[in-house]
Amino acid sequence: MSYLTISRRAALIGGALAVAAPAIIASTTKAQAAGSDLPMRALAQFSVGDMKITVIDDLLFTVPTAIFGANAPEGSVDALFAKYGLPQESANVQGSVFLVETGDAKVLIDTGMGDITLPDAIVDNGRLFAGLKAIGVSPEDITHVFLTHGHYDHIGGVTKNGAPCFPNAAHFMSQIELDYWTSAPGTEANFENLMLSYGNDKLNPIKNQIQIVGDGDDIVPGITAIAAPGHTVGHMAVMLESNGEKLLHLIDTSVHYIVGTNEPTWALGIEQDPAAALETRERLFGKAADENLMVAGYHFPFPGVGRMSRTEAGAFLYTPVSVA
Ligand SMILES: [Zn+2]
Repeated sequence: MSYLTISRRAALIGGALAVAAPAIIASTTKAQAAGSDLPMRALAQFSVGDMKITVIDDLLFTVPTAIFGANAPEGSVDALFAKYGLPQESANVQGSVFLVETGDAKVLIDTGMGDITLPDAIVDNGRLFAGLKAIGVSPEDITHVFLTHGHYDHIGGVTKNGAPCFPNAAHFMSQIELDYWTSAPGTEANFENLMLSYGNDKLNPIKNQIQIVGDGDDIVPGITAIAAPGHTVGHMAVMLESNGEKLLHLIDTSVHYIVGTNEPTWALGIEQDPAAALETRERLFGKAADENLMVAGYHFPFPGVGRMSRTEAGAFLYTPVSVA
C-alpha cells in the first residue's frame, strides 16, 4: 500500500477526528490559505539554563496508525494504541518548532510546513509565522535556521516562492540531507517523489547559501547537531546546553511518542533506513534515560517536552512534563 493511498483514507478519517477535537480546531477556518496569515494556535515558553525556548505549534496531521509499524506483526499496532486508550485507526500528530534565543542569536530548529498543503492535514498548517509574530519576533530577526532533515513538514517554511522566509539568517543542514532533497525526483507518482519535489522547491533557491553541519558541530555555542540517521539518512537531532542544563531534541527519531519508545524496532512507513533508525532510537533514548535529560520530540503532543526512562521490557517510556 502506498502512502498516498493511506493518505486519502486518512483524509476521510480526519473529518471525523476534527469533530472529536473542537478545542484544538476552534480558532481555525478552512477558508484561510495555509502559510498565509493564519492565527496562532499554541505556544509555550521555558528556559534551558540561560537559553529562552519558545515552542510554536505549527501543524496538525491525522495519520493512519498502520504507518507506525510497517514491519510490526499483524494486529500489534492496533493492540498498542488500544492499550493506551487511543483510537486504533488513526492518530493526530502535531508538529512544533523550537525558537532558541541565546545571547544575541535567535535560532530556529526547523521551519514547519510553510505554505505546503497536504490532503490529510486536519487544519491549515504553517503557523510558525503567527507564533513568531505573537512574541514580537519578525522573520528578519532570525539569525540562524537549522534544518534537521528534508521532509516537507520541517523545510516548508524556509522559502516561499523561491525567496528565503528568514532573509538575514544563516542556514544549516547536513550534507547528506541537502544532496538528497535537492536531487531530481523520479517521475513515478509516489509519496517519496512528492516529498522530493517539495525538497527541490524549498531548498534549491537557497542551496548555495546553506552551510553544512556534521555530528557534533555547533550551530551557535550550546546548540549542537547530533547525527541521528534512519528516519532519513542524514537526519539530525539537537542538543541544547546552557549553564549546566541540557535538553536533547529528538526531532523525528520517534514520530509517535508511544510507538517509537515502546517498540523501537518498529519501522515508520516512510523511514529511509530502518536499521539505522532502530540504532538511533536505542542510542538517543538510552542516553536521555541514563542521563535523565529533558527531551523534546517534534511530533510529540504539544509542547512535546518530557523525560525518557527505560522499561522492564527493555524499551522506553516518554513522560511529558509541564514547562509553561
Ligand atoms: Zn516530521
